[in-house]
Amino acid sequence: MTDFADSADTIVAHDGDHAFDAVVPPIVQTSLFTFSSFDEMVSTYKGERSRMVYSRVTNPTVRAFEEKLAALEAADDAIGFASGMAAISGTVLAFVEPGDRIVCVRHVYPDSYRLFETLLKRWKVTTTYVDGRDHEAVAAALKGARLFYMESPTSWMMEAHDVGALAALAKAEGVVTVIDNSWATPVFQQPVTLGVDLVLHSASKYIGGHSDTVAGVVAGSAALIRRIRQTIHPYIGAKLAPFEAWLLLRGLRTLPVRMRSHEAACLTIARRLQALKPVTAVHHPGLANRLPPGLIGTSGLFSLELDESVDIPAFCNALQLFKLGVSWGGHESLVVPALVTRHQAAGPNSAIDFGVPERVVRLHVGLEGVDALWRDIEQALASASTTGREAPGLASL
Ligand SMILES: *Cc1c(COP(=O)(O)O)cnc(C)c1O
Repeated sequence: MTDFADSADTIVAHDGDHAFDAVVPPIVQTSLFTFSSFDEMVSTYKGERSRMVYSRVTNPTVRAFEEKLAALEAADDAIGFASGMAAISGTVLAFVEPGDRIVCVRHVYPDSYRLFETLLKRWKVTTTYVDGRDHEAVAAALKGARLFYMESPTSWMMEAHDVGALAALAKAEGVVTVIDNSWATPVFQQPVTLGVDLVLHSASKYIGGHSDTVAGVVAGSAALIRRIRQTIHPYIGAKLAPFEAWLLLRGLRTLPVRMRSHEAACLTIARRLQALKPVTAVHHPGLANRLPPGLIGTSGLFSLELDESVDIPAFCNALQLFKLGVSWGGHESLVVPALVTRHQAAGPNSAIDFGVPERVVRLHVGLEGVDALWRDIEQALASASTTGREAPGLASL
């Protein structure tokens, strides 16, 4: 890397030299790496020489992705994982023991919540949930805790926290801090620079950006990443594959450009929705007077609440460009109503169970063009009106 490669735009564009002067790194599709002699193998095992041995542990294409992500997050190092959940469980498991307590902000990604409420409970690790905007409550909960798990903004209710202030509260109590930064990406929020210990992503979202891979990553200080790499990563076995790493590297090339585009279109749509009568709330951090310190931009994921004059299933069915589907962060627009989560299997499974109001609808604003997306929303609201009027509230625009 050159000295001026300090902005996200520059970091994603270049990556050292590749064989044959190729501009793009190769996919090193191999399970193992051979040694030229017994002595070389022994010295590698002794740790006297650092080289690749086996792709469950590390691989050149995976390493290229890890180094680029670490640079983007202003972190020393990073580890790729097979999924965002593998990064989350692998990171949490590296730091907790039976009897420990985790403090977690409310409304986190549902499977993170289920990890805490099912698997970790079985292993005698308990979790306290807090409103991340209430610093007094957070400080009280952190006393005696092992780990503070954050997500900001949260991915259903979009609650945006003062991440630096929360990290300082945890530091004062000697509690390790972890944040899920999938929503903001390092383009809009670099938690390490705000004092957070470990930053993780569902790389299936904006990092990949093309809805063609499931992957995860965690970044942080050399010491903490080494701990995860040595105590958890090889045994969980949820490694990032070379081809997935290559897709992520390709996705990253356009991350800053895509984020600026998602931001502009999403803000326009969120503001217009605010003016509509059947829309009782719009949850988008960019609609507040100012963003919390450290969050310098907003992405394409937000949610709204609709009153009884809109039939929510009919609204979802009527949307043409916004497809019904989970996940987000790709090129395409998506819709998912909180109502569907009520139909998930028993257990701590429903978004509604952990406090998402049932008239919440989450939208991901993709890259299709803001005018077409807005027309889609307008026609879907009109066709889903239960009051028989043409388009409820549209007259107020
Ligand atoms: C999707 C998601 C995850 C889980 O990531 P996977 O790659 O699906 O395992 C974690 N956190 C957030 C905020 C997510 O949206």
